[in-house]
Amino acid sequence: MDPTARAAGLRVLADEVSGCTRCTLAAGRSQVVFGAGHPDADLVFVGEAPGFHEDQQGVPFVGAAGKLLDKLLAGIELARSDVYIANVLKCRPPGNRDPQPHEIQACEGHLFRQLALIQPRVVATLGNFATKLLSGKPHGITRVHGQEQQVSLGGLDVLLYPLYHPAAALYTPAMLKVLESDFARIPELLGRPAPAPPATPAADAAPEPEASQQAVQLGLF
Ligand code: URA
Repeated sequence: MDPTARAAGLRVLADEVSGCTRCTLAAGRSQVVFGAGHPDADLVFVGEAPGFHEDQQGVPFVGAAGKLLDKLLAGIELARSDVYIANVLKCRPPGNRDPQPHEIQACEGHLFRQLALIQPRVVATLGNFATKLLSGKPHGITRVHGQEQQVSLGGLDVLLYPLYHPAAALYTPAMLKVLESDFARIPELLGRPAPAPPATPAADAAPEPEASQQAVQLGLF
């Protein structure tokens, strides 16, 4: 997809999601926090959910955790404008409580459609909620941080890279050190060659299987 179509697709999706009422968080939000950054980014960060400041400004990671994310990015010579930043939930949970399973289920389609439009090479998940959702596994962030894994998100092959959530590192110097050293590997991950695309079937080969429901939802077909 060419960059202009990607940007346009994200604008259309953002407009659609701005009126979302799929879960009860709609009633308490100031606005939907859709996501921000480069529509063509090779690297996407996925956090948990907007907090107070994000809900007020409509932009992800603008509070204290966001300032740390900016610093970590600067440490690997990247800026916010080079990457795309989104969250599992697009609306602020009251009192910044944890996302509930039914909220994640209601909202995940928005994230998957975002990823299908951006088509990043690397998706860095920040914290437990994004990691569990996108890995499809129950393993917590303490166990899997810094361990990249190739995953298929509805037909889109990405390198998933779980990281501690910056908010967890704000007041814990030991965790910050780990986060910095995990961040330091990002340039190497971005520099890896893209996985080879699947071989094109010969004209007389068996017909393609039906597209999976998830892939259809992702807009990949
Ligand atoms: N924490 C998140 O997970 N996301 C934000 O946008 C802000 C803080």
